[in-house]
Amino acid sequence: MIKFVDLNVQYEKYKSEIDAAIAGVISSTAFINGPEVKSLEAELSSFCGAKHSIGCSSGTAALVIPQMAMEIKPGDEIIVPVFTYFASASMISHWGATPVFVDVEPNTFNIDPGKIEGKIGPKTKAIFAVSLYGQTPDLDSIMAIAEKHSLWVLEDGAQSFGAEYKDRRSCNVATVSTTSFFPAKPLGCYGDGGAIFTNDDEMADIMRKLVNHGQNKRYHHKYVGVNGRLDSIQASILRVKLKYFQEEITLRQNAAERYNEMLKDVDKVITPRVMSDRNSTWAQYTIRIPDRNRVRAALQEKGIPTSVHYPMPLNKQEAFAYLNDETEYKVAAELASEVLSLPMHAFITPEEQTEVVDSIKAVL
Ligand SMILES: *Cc1c(COP(=O)(O)O)cnc(C)c1O
Repeated sequence: MIKFVDLNVQYEKYKSEIDAAIAGVISSTAFINGPEVKSLEAELSSFCGAKHSIGCSSGTAALVIPQMAMEIKPGDEIIVPVFTYFASASMISHWGATPVFVDVEPNTFNIDPGKIEGKIGPKTKAIFAVSLYGQTPDLDSIMAIAEKHSLWVLEDGAQSFGAEYKDRRSCNVATVSTTSFFPAKPLGCYGDGGAIFTNDDEMADIMRKLVNHGQNKRYHHKYVGVNGRLDSIQASILRVKLKYFQEEITLRQNAAERYNEMLKDVDKVITPRVMSDRNSTWAQYTIRIPDRNRVRAALQEKGIPTSVHYPMPLNKQEAFAYLNDETEYKVAAELASEVLSLPMHAFITPEEQTEVVDSIKAVL
């Protein structure tokens, strides 16, 4: 049976190492702030190139800490794409600032840099750029706009850790970056987890304290922080998976190319576009297809799992009604009714992909 993301087949591959890593943490009893977290942080830094990596309790928590460090206050505005996972914007509201939406590009599904400046005002403090489905947006253009207006940039790399942008990796381009280790993400742990990245020494120092109650040393609190730590068991699992992550990214890229090839002549299906100066970790392989809901239901009947990332742009979410945002986000509205994510993981087989594509053709 085809799975949307098959975590079992991955576990079977690394089982002896993962089991030993978990057992090692249990026998050490260093569950919190232990050496596994420190080692993972060093390995994440050498993987993505960012000088500082800070383990975090989730990708969502990771989005709050930089706002705390940069002293974002009620009334401040932060620019964010209107078509993304809810947390990218909800954490702005949660921290008391106001999310200001920008429409996305029809081909990459990422924030449209050409539409950012029209949304910058005197209260704008930052731009949250999201690397949707595993591909970064045009980060250089976004960084240039930010510099011109004295803003800082956060890359929400929850779906793109490991991807390449020009000569750098995702999570090593913006002022500060975040990722998620939610189990189904390209690099996932066995519970909740995330990380924050920066090359700024001062900001790193503040954020490292903020995730641990703002402590200088035990029971001495320099800042009002939170418990936003990654735990050692999750870190130990991630250390095993990180060793194989580059190989898995390549497998995902091969699988995406197979889908592209199989779907290229299928009328009405638009396959995802990756720009030539970057690549994708393929957190999702997402096509555009008219009559999406009917296609999805028919695939479900055949036992083919699919998903919709995301069925509603953020401006239409009830939780954001208070923003009274009357702007029309044309591209996001189209995508919300047309996107369909197909089964994708490192170990999906060509036979499984053929079955998915044949089923789509049959439905169409
Ligand atoms: C998954 C995800 C998050 C949240 O990460 P969690 O670890 O689930 O809290 C935030 N932003 C984006 C774009 C995501 O895909």
